[in-house]
Amino acid sequence: MIVVLKQSAQKKDIERLTNQIEKQGLNTSIVYGTDQTIIGIIGDTTILDPKTIEVDEAVDHVMRVSEPYKLANRAFHPEDTIIDVAGVKIGGGHLGFIAGPCSVESEEQIIEVAKSVKASGANILRGGAFKPRTSPYSFQGMGSTALDLLLKAKEVTHLPICTELMDASYIPLFNKKVDLVQIGTRNMQNYALLKKVGKEVKKPVLLKRGQSATYEEWIMAAEYIMANGNKNVILCERGIRTYETYTRNTLDLQAIPVLKKLTHLPIIIDPSHAGGKWWLVPPMAKASIAAGCDGLMIEVHNDPEKALSDGPQSLRPEKYSSLMEDIKKLSTIFGKSYE
Ligand code: PEP
Ligand code: MN
Repeated sequence: MIVVLKQSAQKKDIERLTNQIEKQGLNTSIVYGTDQTIIGIIGDTTILDPKTIEVDEAVDHVMRVSEPYKLANRAFHPEDTIIDVAGVKIGGGHLGFIAGPCSVESEEQIIEVAKSVKASGANILRGGAFKPRTSPYSFQGMGSTALDLLLKAKEVTHLPICTELMDASYIPLFNKKVDLVQIGTRNMQNYALLKKVGKEVKKPVLLKRGQSATYEEWIMAAEYIMANGNKNVILCERGIRTYETYTRNTLDLQAIPVLKKLTHLPIIIDPSHAGGKWWLVPPMAKASIAAGCDGLMIEVHNDPEKALSDGPQSLRPEKYSSLMEDIKKLSTIFGKSYE
């Protein structure tokens, strides 16, 4: 971090600032220019807030020369992280194919969908148990009953299960029953939840991007989980809010190369929540694989017209199956593998 001082800054100002910075365990190096003096801060500057230093009357402005995140930063961890979800590897050339209904609705539904997505090549089963719905009058999910139904589907198909955690009080239950814990878009900046997830969740975490989160805000959310103890984070782009209203959200494919450059964490794409329309899912899923993502999360329902949530964006099992045929071919072309 570089602190540029005002021309009016005196020796006593430089001493005050360097003392203040050094008290926090960092080193300083002062460069006296002809017009201006700058203080270089050396060490782990992630603990500093440039805006707070700018409050000092002797400071003109402060610039970061490195990112505010450390654990998620590729600069400190050049190789791709590979996350193991109950035996399924994601990242570093291994693709995760998460599929299943938006919500678990009944035993028959989840088992039927689980069997069909498994036959098509999915390696993780999804199904919402606790649903973050915009309206309090909409179906809120079957709750913990759904976790048991997911476990039944796991018994039949041997697919690990992924479902969303909204309330930290359920962490012990999720640690027992769930293989990949999803943090939804609405909770990406719920820092109290992120801290508890970091400390208490013993399973890998799928962190969805907030609807209007910048890359840095999203990575900082991952950093919260990692800094609190859980390093197994997978990022998931699921569309961001733009001025376009034709689609539910806008899929940000650029997130793939950008996040690959900035972090070592795997990134998967959820084209279902991005477009909000089932027919947008296959083209966007294929584009995502071509752009280098580490996997896909796709909503599949055996009877989308009657789905209790997200029917319009859910693929029928046959459509998912034919998409997966294309995805497998693309995976071979791009040298990726999947279990
Ligand atoms: C979901 O996966 O069903 C979901 C609610 O996702 P998001 O948090 O991306 O809206
Ligand atoms: Mn959904």
